[in-house]
Amino acid sequence: MGVDSDTLAGWLAGYDKESITIGVVASHSSLQILHGARMEGFRTLGIAVGENRRRFYKAFPGAEPDEWLMLEEYREMLDYAEYLRKNNVVIVPHGSLVEYLGSSNFRELQVPTFGNRGILHWESSRERQRQWLEAGGCDMPKVIRDPKEIDGPVIVKYAGAKGGRGYFLARDYRDFRRNVDIEEEFTIQEYVLGCRYYLHFFFDPTRSDGFQVQGKGKNAGKNLGRLELLSMDRRDESNVDEFYKLGSLRDLREMSLEPSFVVTGNQPVVIRESLLPRAFEMAEGVVSSSFLLEEGSRGMIGPFCLETIVTDELKFKVFEISARIVAGSNPFVGGSPYSDINEPFMSTGRRIARAIKKAIDRDCLQDVLS
Ligand code: AMP
Repeated sequence: MGVDSDTLAGWLAGYDKESITIGVVASHSSLQILHGARMEGFRTLGIAVGENRRRFYKAFPGAEPDEWLMLEEYREMLDYAEYLRKNNVVIVPHGSLVEYLGSSNFRELQVPTFGNRGILHWESSRERQRQWLEAGGCDMPKVIRDPKEIDGPVIVKYAGAKGGRGYFLARDYRDFRRNVDIEEEFTIQEYVLGCRYYLHFFFDPTRSDGFQVQGKGKNAGKNLGRLELLSMDRRDESNVDEFYKLGSLRDLREMSLEPSFVVTGNQPVVIRESLLPRAFEMAEGVVSSSFLLEEGSRGMIGPFCLETIVTDELKFKVFEISARIVAGSNPFVGGSPYSDINEPFMSTGRRIARAIKKAIDRDCLQDVLS
């Protein structure tokens, strides 16, 4: 499944390394990716459906793609693979691309793509994420398998829920029973009370300087690559963030209202500096475990996000991982309080382009693509 290393090498052998074009679907974090690619000197290609989408980019000349590939629907990207390869395109994936194509189509897309597409399999199920994150030493919210054992506030997440719409909170079994839709597949998690922080890391396996991730298991004693913290956000979630203004959960239920967790925007944040060493410890664990997920795993490559809640005991609980650029990095097109320390104006989008550029210079492009 997916693209094997010989196929990738074959494609790259035909690429003109002087004229690599960064291709991105025009959505999600594309302004940042396009702007960053341009800052690193790349040509850029926007992929879009609908003239309105293309026109909108006129409002941002600093990110406007050099060229466009206009489609009737996103799945046509699969048919344009040869065209994209002929034009030396490297795709930078983001959440919308994976959603528009579907994760199995994305894995099969016959175009060199930044990052490790194999890791998607692990990201795409809550059970596998838990296995990975716990192997990496992260504490996660408790899962309650039997609803009768609910003994405090819980959050119920439906498998098919898009963007947190349709999750619900319950205080006890009765409350759960009254609200649950048993036709749907769901997970019951302990509701962790605390402040949310979404930590944007970047792992560069081609670098041997900086904070080096130590391998474990079969990689014990090896340095695997460089880990950086690029930025941090908190999501605005509608309507839960403003829910308290109308009273208690009970008052709200009386008005037939349920909280929803639909992301509408992102705010930049920093955490207490004394929490950073633990943040790095968790991220290092997650990266080193990513190499052990399955036989021959290439591990994490590039940006990933740990989605956390910090309790009043100053403990992190990690409730999710995204193994790609997250839209929460969008406030940092001009750099962040963390990335600025190392190099000004280094967004995640630009960091991706920098990794591609350095890999071209060092003739190891294959190491950051899949
Ligand atoms: P998710 O779909 O897992 O990313 O969750 C969506 C949102 O639900 C998060 O951004 C949090 O606001 C909230 N959330 C998820 N899991 C928990 C939890 N275990 N405790 C408290 N809030 C949570």
